[in-house]
Amino acid sequence: MKEKKLEELKSECQNCMRCELGKTRINVVFSDGNPETSKAILIGEAPGENEDKTGTPFVGRAGKLLNEFLEKAGISRAEDLYIINTVKCRPPQNRVPSDEEKNLCSEYLLKQIDIVNPDVIIFCGSTALKSFYSKKIPISKIRGEILEIEINGKTRKCVPIFHPSYLLRYHSLEEGSPRYLMLKDLEKIKTLISK
Ligand code: SF4
Repeated sequence: MKEKKLEELKSECQNCMRCELGKTRINVVFSDGNPETSKAILIGEAPGENEDKTGTPFVGRAGKLLNEFLEKAGISRAEDLYIINTVKCRPPQNRVPSDEEKNLCSEYLLKQIDIVNPDVIIFCGSTALKSFYSKKIPISKIRGEILEIEINGKTRKCVPIFHPSYLLRYHSLEEGSPRYLMLKDLEKIKTLISK
């Protein structure tokens, strides 16, 4: 049932030229994961080069690192998560999507959230966080917290985490390091979705 509704929405996106990003994309990057079994939606920033080429989110270096951390935390990317981005088409030179682009694309994002109806929404990186959370708090200060945010008329449990591209700059898993904190946050999310 969810799959069918999402397929219809995906077809709509594939023809979408609402914003400038539609002109330069190779593929619309709609989602990854199983909407029927996933208890969490992970929202990243925007497709990059590899994602644009393949039509799948988080498949480049950052995506591979995300996979490693998910595995360490016991979260199945294929079964536990439904993965999307704030915009469905790649911004040129991987720039951050503009507010206008995010707003124009938000109808699809909100419909995906409504259809999948997850227990938890993960804001992966500050672009996703800022799209839903108006207080100007850096992600480093708020990551790992469980926020109650109203999205499309429903209060949802949301957890911000670092974006894996930020973690590519660090290698240590020492206590307090960004990679250590990422793992702790994902372990917390694992507990939330296992209830
Ligand atoms: S980014 Fe979103 S709004 Fe813009 S063209 Fe792609 S699907 Fe349409």
